[in-house]
Amino acid sequence: MLETLRRIVQEVNLAEDLSSALSVMVLRIKESMGTEVCSIYLLEPKSNQYYLMATQGLNQSAVGETRMGYSEGLVGHVGQREEPINLDDAASHPKFLYLEETGEERFSAFLGVPIIHHRKTLGVLVVQQRDRRRFDQNEEAFLVTMSAQLAALVAHAEATGTIDGNLFEGVESESARFDGISGATGIGIGKAYVVYPPTDLKSVPDRAITDIKKELRTLNGAIKSVRLDMARLKVKAKVQLPKEEQGLFEVYERMLDDNALAGEVREKVSEGNWAQGALRDVVQTHIRAFEAMDDPYLRARASDVKDLGLRVLSFLQEAKSSINKIPPNAIVVGEDITPTVFVDMDRENIAGIVSSHGSSNSHMSIVARSLGIPTVVGVAEFPLSRMEGRDLVVDGYRGEVIVSPSDAICKHYKSVMEDERELSKELDEVAELPSETPDGHCMTLHVNTGLMADVTLSLERGAEGVGLYRTEIPFMVRDRFPSEMEQMEIYRQQLEAFHPKPVTMRTLDVGGDKALPYFPITEENPFLGWRGIRVTLDHPEIFLQQVRAMLWSSESLDNLKIMLPMISSITEVEDAMHLIHRAFLEVLEEGAHIEMPQIGVMIEVPAAVYQVREFCQQVDFISVGSNDLTQYLLAVDRNNRRVANLYQSYHPSVLRALQEIVTQAKAADTPVSICGEMAGDPRSALLLMAMGYDTLSMSASSLLRVKWVLRKISYSRSKEMLDEIWQMDNAAVILSHLDYVLEKEGLGGFIRPMHGSVHS
Ligand code: PEP
Ligand code: MG
Repeated sequence: MLETLRRIVQEVNLAEDLSSALSVMVLRIKESMGTEVCSIYLLEPKSNQYYLMATQGLNQSAVGETRMGYSEGLVGHVGQREEPINLDDAASHPKFLYLEETGEERFSAFLGVPIIHHRKTLGVLVVQQRDRRRFDQNEEAFLVTMSAQLAALVAHAEATGTIDGNLFEGVESESARFDGISGATGIGIGKAYVVYPPTDLKSVPDRAITDIKKELRTLNGAIKSVRLDMARLKVKAKVQLPKEEQGLFEVYERMLDDNALAGEVREKVSEGNWAQGALRDVVQTHIRAFEAMDDPYLRARASDVKDLGLRVLSFLQEAKSSINKIPPNAIVVGEDITPTVFVDMDRENIAGIVSSHGSSNSHMSIVARSLGIPTVVGVAEFPLSRMEGRDLVVDGYRGEVIVSPSDAICKHYKSVMEDERELSKELDEVAELPSETPDGHCMTLHVNTGLMADVTLSLERGAEGVGLYRTEIPFMVRDRFPSEMEQMEIYRQQLEAFHPKPVTMRTLDVGGDKALPYFPITEENPFLGWRGIRVTLDHPEIFLQQVRAMLWSSESLDNLKIMLPMISSITEVEDAMHLIHRAFLEVLEEGAHIEMPQIGVMIEVPAAVYQVREFCQQVDFISVGSNDLTQYLLAVDRNNRRVANLYQSYHPSVLRALQEIVTQAKAADTPVSICGEMAGDPRSALLLMAMGYDTLSMSASSLLRVKWVLRKISYSRSKEMLDEIWQMDNAAVILSHLDYVLEKEGLGGFIRPMHGSVHS
C-alpha cells in the first residue's frame, strides 16, 4: 500500500494545478481500489456548498455543476460527522440525495471520508460501487490515508486559489484572508515585500520585470559563472574523485545548455518573471519529475538538479541582494523572519510584518512589539512566492492578513488606525503621571529593551527604568562576538540614556530560538538544551568578558543591575556569582571606580519556582520570565504555531506558580518583578499587582496602556478580582471574566484590541 501511495502522491505533485491534481487522484484511487467511482467534493467556504470537483465514474458533465448544501446528502453527512461513512446500500440511507446529473443511482456501496486540515473540513473523498457490499477495513484505511494527503494539497491550493480567484467556478474572488497569530498589535497597510534567505530556492518569490533584456543579461552572467566554476571543479575532481563520479560535471554542463534547463529559464524570463523566480519554477518542475521516477538512480538525480539550481541562484543573488533598500509602506513578508530584519532594513519604511513561522512569544514578535510594528506570525499556507507587490492589510489585533483588500475593507482599517491615533493621544496624557492606583498603591513600571531604537520610545513614555535589557540582541546582529570594548560602548549607551534610573542587564541568553550566526548550536530539542546560563557557565571567557564590560560601562553611573537567565539550580547561581565577583575584583584592580551592582535571578523554569527562598539568600532581586515559565509549565513550545492555542498565560497553574514566587520572595524580603509579556497586558498586570509584584517590566509600546488601567482600578478591586479568578479552573473563563470586569469599568477600549492574542 505504501508504494501505491508514494506513486500516487508523486504523480499528483507533478500536476500543474489543483484541477489536474484532483483528476489524477480520482483516476489512480479508482484504479488501485478497483472501484467504479471515485469523486472529490470540496467545500466552498463562502456559499458553504460542496462542489463536485473531480470524478471518475460519475457523469463528467456534472463536474463544477453539482453542488449541495453543507448538510445535504451523504457527502454533507460525512463532512458534518467528520468521520468515514461506509454503507452497502447508499440509496436506503435517510440522508441519500438523488442528483440526476451525476448518474449516481446506479451505485449501491458508498464510502465517504472527510478531507480535514487543521480541524477544518475542506471536502469529502468518495468511492462507490455497483455491488451491495461494505468496503473492507484495508480499503477504508487506504482512503483515509489518501484523504490526509489530499488535505494539505487542497489547503495550499485554496490559499493560492483564493488569491488567483479561480478555484471554484462562478465564485468571484475578492480579498483573501489568512489566519495567523498576533505578534504585535496594530494595523499595517502597504505592499508586500518578500524577504527570503539566500540559497533557499523554494522561497524565492515571483517578481515582475520590465527590462527583459537586462534580466537575460544577468541570467547569462550567472550561467557563465557556474560554467566557469564547473570547469574549475572538474579539474580538481580529476585528482580527487573516482572516474565514475567525474561524469557528474558533464551532466551539469549539459543541463546548462540552451536546449536544457538554461533555455527553459530564459523562456520564462522572456515571459516577464525575473531570473530567480524563473529558475525556481524550472528547477522545481525538474526535481519533481526526477523524484517521481521508478528507477532509484534517476530518482537520485533530483538532488543534482537542485544543486545546480542553487549554484545558479547564488550567482544571481550576488548580482541582486534580496534585502536591499525597501520602499516606504512595505509589509515585510517571509517564511521565518528574525529580529535582524530591523537592522538590515529602514525601520521607518516597515508598515507591518508577516511571517509564516513563529508565535506571539517568539523573539521576532517581542522585538516587533517593542518597536510598535503590527505583526502577524504563524500564517500557515501563506503563498509567499505569489506575494511580492500585493496590497496587504496586517491586522495585528486579530492575527489576520488580508490580501488584495477591497475598498470597503481598506476604509474600515483606516478608521481603526485613526481610532488608534486618538487613543494614543489620550494615553500620552498619563506619560508624566505616577503609576498609582486610585487608592494610593504605587507600581514601578519598567521597560524591556534590546535595540537602541527602544530607548527613545521608552523615555518618551515615562519609563522608570529598564527591567530587562536583552543583551543577546546586539550580539545577534553582528557577525562575530563583540569585543569587551565594543560591548562596553553599547552598554554605556543604555546606562547613560536612562541614568539615574536603573538598567537591568541580563547576561547573554542564547540557545533555544536565539541563535548567533557565528556560534551555531544545533540540537534536537533546543528549548530543553544548551541555553541561557548553561551556555555562559560552560564558556566562562564569554561570561567574564560580558560582565567586565557591564561593570566598566557603569563607572560613575552606578545604575547597573545584572540578571541571570534560565537558572534551574542553586549551583548555577553560586557559579555565576563566583564569576561576577571575580570580574568585579579584576576591574577594581584595573582602576575602575564602581559599586558592586545588585544581582538578580530570573525565574523561568518550574524547578526555580520552588527554590525562590534559597535564591533570595544569594541574590538581591528576583525577576520572573513569564514567557519561558509558561512554556515550561505547560510543556508548550512558545514558537510552535500548532500548539499556540495551548500557550495560555492565564492557565490557573501559571497563575498559581506566579503567586507562589511572589509569596516566597516577599517572605524573604526580596524585591520581585516580572519582565515577561504578561506584565504588558493590562488584564494580567492587575492580577500581578494583586499578587504582590512591585515592578512590571514590558515593551515600551504597552507601558501607557498598562499605566492608564492601573490608574483607574483600585488596588482593593484588583485583590477582589484575584480572589474571583482563584475560583475558576480554566484560562478562557478567567480571561473573559477579566474582560467583563474591565468593560464594566469603562476600560474596554484599552483591552478590546487585544482580543485574539494568544496570551489569552
Ligand atoms: C521570559 O522568558 O519571560 C523573558 C523575559 O525572557 P525571553 O522572552 O527573552 O526569553
Ligand atoms: Mg526567557
